[in-house]
Amino acid sequence: NPLARARYLLAAHTPRQLPPDGGFEVAFAGRSNAGKSSALNALCQQNALARVSKTPGRTQQLVYFDIPPSTDRYLVDLPGYGYAKVPQDLQAHWQAFIDGYFQTRQALRGLVVVMDIRHPLKDYDRQMLGYAVSRGLPAHALLTKADKLGRGQQSQALLAVRKELFSAYGDTVSVQTFSGESKQGVDEARAVVGGWLQL
Ligand code: GDP
Repeated sequence: NPLARARYLLAAHTPRQLPPDGGFEVAFAGRSNAGKSSALNALCQQNALARVSKTPGRTQQLVYFDIPPSTDRYLVDLPGYGYAKVPQDLQAHWQAFIDGYFQTRQALRGLVVVMDIRHPLKDYDRQMLGYAVSRGLPAHALLTKADKLGRGQQSQALLAVRKELFSAYGDTVSVQTFSGESKQGVDEARAVVGGWLQL
């Protein structure tokens, strides 16, 4: 698993702090508490990789992980808002940064949206998916915490979300069940991310 080599590189809170835009990167989005850190940790077989993204003050930054020995392959943790209240001007700054990032970042090859399988497709998730799709980028949804549901309910949730994604975005958005806890779906998600990064 090449993602197991991922390590923290930097955190950017302005566009100028981003790494050179010449490589391949996959962005991870998710509402606060959806299970994004756990998903990143599971994909990378590390216990604390994404903890750095949760450091106070980092909630408005893009956190980059690189994947040695490559120097131009990145996982990018987009901190969700839906966090504790952020001042209005910060919110606007953040929105502009994210808008610009999605519109112009050439290295961006795909978006992973992490959603709690019990609460999928909230406004934030749709906004993120909309950004990716309007750029013509593929997106992949992880319905995580699947371990909280029985198999039957998992399949029902998966089918319902798949149907809704297809009618909203066509086949540029894929979806699977996932669990950072039981590791269900980890191989499937790694294959998607690894494919986008051409690892
Ligand atoms: P983030 O805010 O999206 O990064 O969410 P975290 O990864 O920190 O997870 C939020 C909470 O959900 C924590 O208490 C995790 O232990 C729990 N959690 C995350 N993923 C799973 C999962 O797959 N299964 C279960 N049962 N709990 C999970």
